Amino acid sequence: MASAHNPQGAAELAHAGQLLIGSQWQSASDQSVVEAVTNPYTGQTVAEITAAAAEDVEEAVRAAEAGAARWRRTPAHERSGILLRAAELADERVDRIAAILSAENGKTIAEATAECSRSGELIRLATFEGTQLYGETLPLDANPGTGLEKVGFTVRQPVGIVAAITPFNYPSLLVLHKIAPALAAGNAVILKPARTTPLTALALAQCFVDAGLPEGVLSVLTGAGSLIGDLLVSDPRIRKISFTGSTGVGERITQIAGVKKLSLELGASSPTVVLPDADLERAAEAVAKGGYANAGQVCISVQRVVVHRDVHADFVDALAAKVSQLRAGDPSSASTDIGTLITEGEAERVHDSIRDAVSRGARLVTGGDRDGAVVQPAIVDGVRLEDPLSQQELFGPAVAITEASDLDDALAVANGTPYGLAAGVFTGSVSTITKVIREVDAGSVHINWTPLWRADLMPYGGLKASGIGKEGPRAAVAEMTEVKTIVLHG
Ligand code: NAD
Repeated sequence: MASAHNPQGAAELAHAGQLLIGSQWQSASDQSVVEAVTNPYTGQTVAEITAAAAEDVEEAVRAAEAGAARWRRTPAHERSGILLRAAELADERVDRIAAILSAENGKTIAEATAECSRSGELIRLATFEGTQLYGETLPLDANPGTGLEKVGFTVRQPVGIVAAITPFNYPSLLVLHKIAPALAAGNAVILKPARTTPLTALALAQCFVDAGLPEGVLSVLTGAGSLIGDLLVSDPRIRKISFTGSTGVGERITQIAGVKKLSLELGASSPTVVLPDADLERAAEAVAKGGYANAGQVCISVQRVVVHRDVHADFVDALAAKVSQLRAGDPSSASTDIGTLITEGEAERVHDSIRDAVSRGARLVTGGDRDGAVVQPAIVDGVRLEDPLSQQELFGPAVAITEASDLDDALAVANGTPYGLAAGVFTGSVSTITKVIREVDAGSVHINWTPLWRADLMPYGGLKASGIGKEGPRAAVAEMTEVKTIVLHG
């Protein structure tokens, strides 16, 4: 029986139970490994999928070899036509895919719909970038001894096969940030979506198949990351790994990848700095959004607020007034602000991390209780920089507050974790802003906003343990193509 928790058509639309191998739906070679995709709020099964075995991975790589050869010989305007049709289908299917996404992930239906509403435009942006594979001419005669008889230039070509490995927290957006630029640039793609959220990925892949993607070009392998991921990452026929997920898995990828291109979008503990000349009300409002969206399961979530001691008490009061208004609970209800964590186990981990910080001397201002996979939005004050709640990624609906004595102290605290994905600062001073721009070590720095902001077109990716490389369609197409230097000897 269909319900808001188990959306009608999930199984049919998403081809649940099948793998996509070389743009063709088929059964897994071993039908016995069935995994339930569970609604984290109700605990009910949304659909069952079969896990890919090593034989399926091999078949997908072989199909991708043939697909990559075909697709790179397809003129860019023809590739573009197919991808633009896929964008239209993604637009038409927003509500159906959002219902699947909310059911398997636990984010609110409003958040799921907002995420899926970006699909079509993201595919269109990537498609455009795939038509912009320009090269440059080389002034070879400036080389001592070289005359005017030679002509040099560069050309860009697809890398061949891209393996895209994605996390659970944005099951639509992060899949499309990989497969759309990879396809637009002329590559074949093998997608390995997160184990907890495969249905959204299968539903999106269906848009590309229905748009007429040729045989071989797209595969989706559902199942265990440890098996499928390791096989894909270590395969020399795959030229590029585009991974988004935890820093631990990212490190493993660097160890076994061999000679290939890597983009790694990894973990974070993102700071927001609030200074005495800031608009405190605006800062509190932005943190109340940026620390709790998607139940805090966003790589650019505000995990830490570093607040100057002169405005510390006023800021905490302003934030607490807003956070205590947030309603956590049933993701399918329009009145819910914060849905579930991805699993009850994750909710327990987040709950324990908050409790442990308090046992080490921090103060719980509000929230932190757990019911099933739902954790009430929390503020934890007086968290030291050395505390695990600052140093380790939380990935849950809590904000840790650390007091700073001055600007230099605030910047040292902001930079004082292994991560460097994104940061925000609230200040009214231009000289402070210029110092922050130069001294904060983060892939994105937001002035008078929190790190939780992204336009799909912008370069996006972290420094330090937060990763290597940039996403965003223009950057991704650049990283999913190779430059060849051509010299004509006259
Ligand atoms: P995860 O690392 O557990 O899993 C990510 C993907 O890797 C999944 O598809 C998983 O099946 C796969 N995987 C697991 N083991 C593997 C292996 N040995 N080889 C290859 N792939 C393997 O991450 P998650 O829990 O799904 O997502 C949360 C994490 O993702 C957080 O750390 C978050 O910060 C990060 N993230 C980062 C960004 C960013 O842009 N920097 C964006 C979103 C999420």
